[in-house]
Amino acid sequence: MKDPQSPGDTPREEFRKQLHELADWVADFRENIESLRVAPCEKPGAIRAQLPAQGPEEGESFEKILGDVDRLIVPGMVHWSHPMFLGYFGWTATAPGILGEIISVPLNVNAMTWRTCPAATELETVVIDWLRQWLGLPDEFGGVVYDTASVGIMHALAVAREEAAPSTRKFGLINRDLPRFRIYTSDEAHSAAEKAAITLGIGEENVQRVETDADFRIDVNALRETIARDVRHNFKPLAVIATVGTTSSASVDPVPEIAKICRERKMWLHIDGAYGGAFAMVPEYKWASKGWDMADSIVINPHKTLFVPLDFSVLYVRDAERLRRVFTLVPEVLRGDTVEGEKNYMDYGIQLGRRFRALKAWVIWRSLGREGIVARLREQIRLANLVAGWIKSDDRFELAAPVSMGVICFRFVGPVAGIVDAGPGSPTPATTDNIDKLNSQIVEQINASGRAYLTQTKLRGQTVMRIGLGNVLTTEDHLRKAWEIIRETAVAL
Ligand code: PLP
Repeated sequence: MKDPQSPGDTPREEFRKQLHELADWVADFRENIESLRVAPCEKPGAIRAQLPAQGPEEGESFEKILGDVDRLIVPGMVHWSHPMFLGYFGWTATAPGILGEIISVPLNVNAMTWRTCPAATELETVVIDWLRQWLGLPDEFGGVVYDTASVGIMHALAVAREEAAPSTRKFGLINRDLPRFRIYTSDEAHSAAEKAAITLGIGEENVQRVETDADFRIDVNALRETIARDVRHNFKPLAVIATVGTTSSASVDPVPEIAKICRERKMWLHIDGAYGGAFAMVPEYKWASKGWDMADSIVINPHKTLFVPLDFSVLYVRDAERLRRVFTLVPEVLRGDTVEGEKNYMDYGIQLGRRFRALKAWVIWRSLGREGIVARLREQIRLANLVAGWIKSDDRFELAAPVSMGVICFRFVGPVAGIVDAGPGSPTPATTDNIDKLNSQIVEQINASGRAYLTQTKLRGQTVMRIGLGNVLTTEDHLRKAWEIIRETAVAL
């Protein structure tokens, strides 16, 4: 019975009705997603202009709010789950993923300590360990779930810094005679390395970008030389970040050789497998996990590659106690809820309050099983190679990088190799600049059309188009359509 004095919550029957309506809304959205534009055609500020600048004085009905979602929000979105969304790493909210996320919402627990939610804590430990086994990581690796890989890298490097400069957690960086740390990563690695260096007081200039070879993998000789030069100049080499699946081309650094250097120099080895690490589950890609057993930390983003809805990123540390030592801190108010010997995930990072992220991973991974996951990753690899075949057989286009995992980088080079047609009767010799511009325009025009969505990036200073697969709704037919759109747009431009 509702207490007439208490403002309380929505009446039970009304809530049940709304939930049923919402269930239909979710199913309709999924069913009709292909009828939506992939990206909006709105100008900046257009959505905000339709929303009141002040919050409502009185409550509004759910019906009205959901109506505004349809009218204002859905058309103003880039639909990352649209099968023609081929940008970045094209993830999907799969049906089981959506269900898993929905279940966690009414539970609304705070998984900061074991006692504040035993099931959330223990399930987190279980799903982290399932993934560890699927990846073939030794059991000395323990993990923690964060929101993103950038946060994972920052925590890993904080441990590296503490081990290289003990008591930094206690005394900080000011007025201490600390070494000048250097972190090394390739010129294709993610900018999360610099973000971590900024946060940890190491400084972004102290992230040294090392050149890559013809296949966009870190040049190990150049890495050796850069480290040796830094040592001569009194820098202290702290860590190497090796990438398994770089953001632009999904290239894989030679981890075993890098691990050897890290051992010799007593440096921390972090593996950024945010996108590509999970492909180690596919037997044909097992090689990508060579040398991981010598790493100190590894980050994997199941929200990129393993079908878990955003956000869900796992940081593994060889002996997770190293991570705990740096971040454990029990305020008085939590002492009663901190059971000695039980895992308290608040001790493994700067975050105190923590969502029950493990639940959605548990639901999706149980629904697909290891075999289902591998089958879907394999299909992405097959589709990526199929698209690469189409590109190779059209001499107006060229592949800009070896096809790796679900990523294809390619470039339009002109109707006849070396010539760009600048208009009727006026072919102009192709210059790097005008080919760059053209490739950029093709992507811009396709994205503005709302029919498909690609990413543009730079490889060796040249602008290239990029398709990132990952959406389970994207089929061969969608890619044929996308290839047609790309060719049409290129010719029209
Ligand atoms: N590392 C790699 C290789 C990435 O591609 C990305 C993002 O695309 C990141 C790290 C950062 O991931 P997050 O957005 O989870 O911080």
